[in-house]
Amino acid sequence: MLYNEYRRKTRQIRVGRVAVGGNAPVSVQSMTNTDTLDFAATLSQIRALEEAGCDIVRLAVPHPDAAATIYRLKEAGIALPLVADIHFDYKAAIRAAEAGADKIRINPGNIGSDDRVKAVAQACRSRHIPIRVGVNSGSLEGELLEKYGAPTAEALAESAMRHVRLLEKFDFDDIIIAVKSSDPARMNAAVRIIADQCDYPFHLGVTEAGTPTSGIIKSAAGIGSLLLSGIGDTIRVSLTADPVREVIEGKRLLSVLGIEEGGVEIVSCPTCGRTRIDLIALAERFETAVQEANIRPKHRIKVAVMGCAVNGPGEAREADFGIAGGIGEALLFRQGEIVRKIPEEEIIPTLLSELKMLADAQTYND
Ligand code: SF4
Repeated sequence: MLYNEYRRKTRQIRVGRVAVGGNAPVSVQSMTNTDTLDFAATLSQIRALEEAGCDIVRLAVPHPDAAATIYRLKEAGIALPLVADIHFDYKAAIRAAEAGADKIRINPGNIGSDDRVKAVAQACRSRHIPIRVGVNSGSLEGELLEKYGAPTAEALAESAMRHVRLLEKFDFDDIIIAVKSSDPARMNAAVRIIADQCDYPFHLGVTEAGTPTSGIIKSAAGIGSLLLSGIGDTIRVSLTADPVREVIEGKRLLSVLGIEEGGVEIVSCPTCGRTRIDLIALAERFETAVQEANIRPKHRIKVAVMGCAVNGPGEAREADFGIAGGIGEALLFRQGEIVRKIPEEEIIPTLLSELKMLADAQTYND
């Protein structure tokens, strides 16, 4: 896989059934927004996240009693790795480890004294549960805020590394690091600072990125620029939206960056004065149809949806298949060859059936 050729070398950490770092595929995470004590709602949301392709899911464990939900989810057959998100209450972390959590996320800024970190490390080590040191610009230690005057990249990096070293002092090195800020440039700079200081895998995210309208762009900039530099092992696209959307956009980000080996890449032209077909609607309908049909080929399939025969066939030839629009019809190309003309109303069903055929052929050939 191409990403591994320029990827930052890290050790590999196991989060339940998912490997993070090393040469493992970049995984996509999300976080439930149900009340963790509401077992039925949490179970149903985790199932929806898994269905959407989520690799790892995080749950807030605001107090020790909420950890029981993790145990119940495992009993209910949830195999998706579960991460207990802990703020303030180290006892909740210990209970979550006892309840079967696959990873514990602690926030160095608010977990408390070194002894508490030590107690969490002990609870995790005996069960082979990794810890994510999750630094967040909104909850940086007061001392570092005073030293740097603001949650700068340097301050975030120092907070993360200080807690990594603390865990190492307690003989714990099953660690994943996340340094998040709502400012993509700051998060980006902080991650780059610590990239040279250790070989632990990184969880990337732009925190409080906002609604999908701007949040997707912010995340694509912050997470995407790091991934394109070979940095990053697991990601979350944080959005003020249904968590399922975070998974869809996370997968999409990996796909458009070419980091996920499989998936469907749709190339479509911006349209211009030569366009004689309703290409915008066609491209959108095709993209939605692919998503709804949940077609996820193991190896990338490139589909060109082009407005005319000027650049259309050229681009379509580069793709596995595609169309070049005409007046009320389109030319269908497959592997660089013109196959036939298709009437406008048959374009979407034809593209979908071409896609399914190719995806099925991959499964068959593998
Ligand atoms: Fe215009 Fe054709 Fe290019 Fe689309 S492919 S932008 S219709 S020239």
